[in-house]
Amino acid sequence: MTSLPENKRLAIHGGTPVRHKLLPYGRHSLDSADIDAVVEVLKSDWLTTGPKVEEFEERLAERVGAQHAISFSSGTAALHGTAFAAKLESGDEAITTPLTFCATANCVLYQGASPIFADISPDTLNLDPAKVLEKITPRTKAIFAVDYAGHPAELDKLQALAKNQGALLIEDASHALGAIYKGERIGSIADMTVFSFHPVKHITTGEGGMVTTNDSKLAETLRRFRNHGISSEARQRQEAGQWHYEMVLLGFNYRLTDIACALGISQLEKLDENLRRRRELAAAYTAAFRDLALLEVPAVHKESDPAWHLYPVRLNLETLTATRSEVFQALRAENIGVNVHYVPVHLHPYYRDRFGTKEGDFPVAEDAYERLISLPMFHSMTQQDMRDVIEAIVKVSSHYQLSDAKGERSRLLGARG
Ligand SMILES: *Cc1c(COP(=O)(O)O)cnc(C)c1O
Repeated sequence: MTSLPENKRLAIHGGTPVRHKLLPYGRHSLDSADIDAVVEVLKSDWLTTGPKVEEFEERLAERVGAQHAISFSSGTAALHGTAFAAKLESGDEAITTPLTFCATANCVLYQGASPIFADISPDTLNLDPAKVLEKITPRTKAIFAVDYAGHPAELDKLQALAKNQGALLIEDASHALGAIYKGERIGSIADMTVFSFHPVKHITTGEGGMVTTNDSKLAETLRRFRNHGISSEARQRQEAGQWHYEMVLLGFNYRLTDIACALGISQLEKLDENLRRRRELAAAYTAAFRDLALLEVPAVHKESDPAWHLYPVRLNLETLTATRSEVFQALRAENIGVNVHYVPVHLHPYYRDRFGTKEGDFPVAEDAYERLISLPMFHSMTQQDMRDVIEAIVKVSSHYQLSDAKGERSRLLGARG
């Protein structure tokens, strides 16, 4: 138990860590059914673009309530597909959030168009529709919303803004497979929705991605784009006994293999259980931390049921004698594998150099970034893992708690110059 003084001493100061083995912030879950499904494909006639691709696409479309699903070799390739299908090109603009993985904005650059950042809402850290409105110009062709941590963006308002402008709403739902917004499933709402099957996401295919849409024109373009721009697939030709094919647009080889799709089909069967566990962990964290003055738990809107890819807390730095970086290191020393999501995209050297973006451009995103720490959140976490995280957070944050909030803070700030 933790009553010994030795256990109160932070591991970073030589005390005993809360746990002996590092708990990662995210991790895939694979079982023997997943492995068998892959082995079966390895023994079959099709390793790529065979029956498993179609089956995975159909099942995912059905799961999220969309008419079409088009698989890609990664979430990033899928994002590139949406930027192409939205007809983004040089001179066009697409509005997106700075608080995301860089791939969301990069896909706009792949098309030669300009990513235009808009600041986020301080509660959910999703795109603020009022800030998006300020950034709309006659050149705006798309809005790329991100469902940060798995909490749906304000899709109704963003869809209305996009429609008004004749632009498309594209949703990067890499965090949000299984999330619900106003009773509707994520994947059936925006003009195009992107999912990722990277191993830290809800379900994995190793690498992989998917676009879902209810628009058959967009679906056709996406299918061609991921296959060199060719208007038919090798399997269709083989089955029809044909050799002739036509390339009708400039695409890429962004295909997902049958091997990967067999894994995806098998993983999808466990999505509900995965979501249930994530929601349970999130509820336990929120109950444990709600009354801690030292941090803020993630906000959840009434009309949303998040998918909890991440559980990001924000430190109330005003009540702490430490910076985020010190708290982060202290939690790592306790063997709690925390992470930070994300370095705001406009602050990456590439964006600074190319677009002249800088600190101060997006104050809400930057303030959040200074405070954010993602706690471990994945399907196979045990109750003991969860208790370790809670214990470590309480241990570390109470160590760094200001006793005399005002005096201590100014003394520290003074001492640091
Ligand atoms: C994971 C992720 C991506 C990229 O997906 P990959 O499958 O790794 O290419 C894009 N956007 C967000 C928000 C992500 O979390």
